[in-house]
Parts: sequence; structure tokens; C-alpha cells
Amino acid sequence: MALDKYRKKRNFRVSPEPRGKSPGGKTSSSLYVIQKHRASQLHYDFRLASRGTLLSWAIPKGPSLDPRVKRLAIQVEDHPLEYGGFEGVIPEGEYGGGTVMLWDKGTWTPDEPDVEDALGRGSLKFTLHGKKLRGSWALVRTKGYGGRRKNAWLLIKHRDEYASKKDITQEKPNSVVSRRSLAGIARDGGGDVEKAASGDPSG
Ligand code: MN
Repeated sequence: MALDKYRKKRNFRVSPEPRGKSPGGKTSSSLYVIQKHRASQLHYDFRLASRGTLLSWAIPKGPSLDPRVKRLAIQVEDHPLEYGGFEGVIPEGEYGGGTVMLWDKGTWTPDEPDVEDALGRGSLKFTLHGKKLRGSWALVRTKGYGGRRKNAWLLIKHRDEYASKKDITQEKPNSVVSRRSLAGIARDGGGDVEKAASGDPSG
């Protein structure tokens, strides 16, 4: 996927999101980020840099450190690498309008060198070196989610020393770069604070 689909959905004169440089084929950056995004629904955007763009999945419930819990991850359009640095407010009415938080950040290493091939087979195994998520994980394509069949994957934690029953989304809810809550980011960016706050843990 190139960035056409990403750009088509957005108006960069209105939204502060990056337009993105055209990906060069050779860049093999290993950036990994998760952006917590309070749009029409709260979700976690899981992104892995590969061949100059960010492969992207939207995870409605966010990641789980428990190997027995599989989380639905809908593959969405590739995003530009610069998107991995974005935290802020997308204006209401724009595509994805709402508050975006950099929830986790680090690097990733695929278990096998040919990422394209792994994606084609519907099974990508990798190691995350983030601040919140670490160790061995897998994305496995799944069937049985109706019309979204082609894009539906499951994010699964493998058993290792980083597996846990802790609810990481509740225990570490804030930004990995600014420590801000969603409400704090919305307040600073002139966004809808009340809507953003509904994505922060209550109490
Ligand atoms: Mn999103």
C-alpha cells in the first residue's frame, strides 16, 4: 500500500496530521508505535515501520499482555513514517476527528526477515521493544468477522517474561512522550476535552 489512500481521506490544510513524504523503497526503519485515539470510538492504532511506511492496525480494545486474550486488530491503510511522532488534536468533522495520544513507542524486530511474505501468509511474529509492550507477539489473520474478513487480524501476546495479567491500558493510560492524559492533550490542542476524557480511566 502506498500513501494515496491515507492522503485521500484527509484534508491537510485543516488537520495537523503529517502528509508524509513518499516512501523510499529501501528504508528499513524499525519504529514501533501505538497511538491511543479517541475518535468516534476509542481505539488503539498499532503501527510497525516496514519498507518506508507504517503498517497499521486499529485495535478497538487495545493490547493485552495475557497470552489467553486475543484482541481484534483491523488492518487499515499504511501511514507515513512521520505519523509515528504525532500527538495532538484532529479537528472534529475531519477523518478520524478527535484526540491522538502517543501511548507507546520503541522499535520492533520481525522473527522472519521477509515481512511482506509473512503478511501474505497471514501470520506475522515479532518482538516489541517499547516502553509498555515488550517481548514476543503475533498478528494472525482471522476469518469470521463478516464483511471485514480480509482486514481482520488478532494481536496475541506469546508466553514469555513480559506476559502478565495486568491490564496495561488501565495501569499505564497516559502518553509515553508527554505523560499527558487524553483530556490534557485535548485541552492543550483546543479539542473536545469532555469527549477525550471519556477515553481516560475513570476515578
Ligand atoms: Mn485511529
